Amino acid sequence: MKLRFWFASLWFACIAQAGSLFQVSTLQALMEGRYDGVITVAELKEHGAFGLGTFHALEGEMIYVNGRMYQVLGDGTVVMPAPETGVPFACVADIKLENAIEIRARIDLDEFRSTLDGRYTDSHVPLAIYMTGTFSRVQVRSVPAQEPPYPPLPDVIANQAVFDGEDIAGELVGFRMPDFWAGVNAPGYHFHFVSADRTFGGHVLDMTADGGLLFIQELKRAVLTLHRGD
Ligand SMILES: [Zn+2]
Repeated sequence: MKLRFWFASLWFACIAQAGSLFQVSTLQALMEGRYDGVITVAELKEHGAFGLGTFHALEGEMIYVNGRMYQVLGDGTVVMPAPETGVPFACVADIKLENAIEIRARIDLDEFRSTLDGRYTDSHVPLAIYMTGTFSRVQVRSVPAQEPPYPPLPDVIANQAVFDGEDIAGELVGFRMPDFWAGVNAPGYHFHFVSADRTFGGHVLDMTADGGLLFIQELKRAVLTLHRGD
């Protein structure tokens, strides 16, 4: 029994190391309206300290930075989700906070993406991305909790709430996913944002960064969990 526990702990320790992507469910499942939690917030946090996703019944946007998780509700309110809250979709990784890339000039979202593509040219390797800094503009969205039978994701997004922030300090977290991952996740870049004062955040539709520190982690292993753990 003790030995089993030791192996289980070791397994979690390996999974949580930097360089591993831990993903809950798939984008395709979300597209089909599968919004019931697969694992809990507490379980998800065992697999890394940074990430993004959503919550049971598609109740808002998840922003997970440095071990602290935030939930932006459909009306834009930012709360900390309870540990037992269900998670139907999320991507989590550890990002080593070393070898920071300093952003010194104003850079819009396209320039931000091209900078990353220029530095990380192997498009087959997923990237986890974290930036702390100041932003002259951030446009985010969130969505309200859905009632079963759940509508497909495109129908929910058609009614998304959009919020604009200006001259705002905060944290950006996201991923670059390879084309071959289509269906499992959205190829390309996906960012979520939370302000430093934790009053503003969501799924990033557009942004312009003024400056800050950027940390990138290449993810060379991936774990996908699909089933409810009961
Ligand atoms: Zn998102």
